[in-house]
Amino acid sequence: MTTLRCSSCDAVPATGDALACAQCGELLAFVLQTDRFDAHEVEANARVRRASLEPRDRSGVWRFRELLPPVAPEAITTLREGDVPLIDAPRGAAYAGVDGLAYLHLGVNPTASFKDAGMTVAISHARERGARVAVCASTGNTAASMAAYAARAGMAAVVIAPVEAISAAKVAQTLDYGAHVVGVAGDFDDALRAVRALDPATIAVVNSVNPYRIEGQKTAALVLLELRGWIAPDWVVLPGGNLGNASALGKGFREARAIGLTLRTPRLAVVQAAGAAPFARAWRNDAELVPVRAETDATAIRIGAPASWKKARAEVRASGGTVLDVSDAEIAEARAVIGRDGVGCEPASAASLAGLRRLVADGSVARDADVVCVLTGHVLKDTAYAARYHASAASHANAIVRGVELGEYLEALLLTHA
Ligand SMILES: *Cc1c(COP(=O)(O)O)cnc(C)c1O
Ligand SMILES: [Zn+2]
Repeated sequence: MTTLRCSSCDAVPATGDALACAQCGELLAFVLQTDRFDAHEVEANARVRRASLEPRDRSGVWRFRELLPPVAPEAITTLREGDVPLIDAPRGAAYAGVDGLAYLHLGVNPTASFKDAGMTVAISHARERGARVAVCASTGNTAASMAAYAARAGMAAVVIAPVEAISAAKVAQTLDYGAHVVGVAGDFDDALRAVRALDPATIAVVNSVNPYRIEGQKTAALVLLELRGWIAPDWVVLPGGNLGNASALGKGFREARAIGLTLRTPRLAVVQAAGAAPFARAWRNDAELVPVRAETDATAIRIGAPASWKKARAEVRASGGTVLDVSDAEIAEARAVIGRDGVGCEPASAASLAGLRRLVADGSVARDADVVCVLTGHVLKDTAYAARYHASAASHANAIVRGVELGEYLEALLLTHA
């Protein structure tokens, strides 16, 4: 009920492992025959499976398996990913200037980023076809996710990454799962270019150019709708790096509406960091994307030549959404505000709230809008960044207190919390 096609010229690839169209070079994408599904059945299946004890039923990805490319049950490699919370965000809402805001926290996944939802499908498929080695270029989270799922599947994992430029916590996590970490000169874009040149027939390339990744990640849209009783919010705001996730969420919402699971789709707002914003610029100029040399402290989105920009543009356009960029200072402040909601995320994730604040300020998002910000990674993914922020003079910095008399300190605290 789903077929692999070129996302641009519609050609059908000759092999199931290709990552690009042999005719035109563009990325491949699965096309779901949405008219073959009954919304009540999809919804009822998901509801029953949520209460099941079978691992693939409990996964927020695999409980929607009929909407995914078929994978043999014995090849499915799951860590119960995808079943993430939607958390009310009162401080974030006040900060952005909207009445209603919630965080879809994709950092609450087995390896603490949304990459797991895609990785479970990509690695399961690779396992089914007998691949022995998985490879990715990474800014950190893809590496950790691939390493964990490859370990579960009994496959070797090889990460190609500019290791000095990514969070030490992510590198350590990846080493823990037993991956081979190959440090390379240059940046993520150079590493991805090298990986895309590999032969996918012998090596499973699991970056988001792999269409199986996108299929897994689209289920975040289904989980979000499920958590809201199948009623879409007005806006979904998310960070954009390589733009696989924006493509995936857009696809998920579109398919959900086509099947009849929801009556409407949300507008998508994709937020980039100002130093890594080729997509935001292309959007503003209504022009083709011109790659840049990326620079931002939000290392998960330090990407200058996003592979999935055309897919993402199509999804943002179809949703009636927008694309913008925010400064590193705005990201840092928004991240601290998210922390005050008791949630916490890594820097790239906070581009969502920083972007929403901008969109409310310029009138693009109404104050009474119903908004969901997607948090893509967990706060513990980059504690060095958080520590630096709180030791700084930034507006929401929370410095460690030293040299006080405890009794007096608590007394003063009681007065201010009377
Ligand atoms: C990968 C990642 C992103 C960027 O997602 P793309 O699909 O590359 O646009 C954003 N935030 C975090 C935490 C990530 O790991
Ligand atoms: Zn093509």
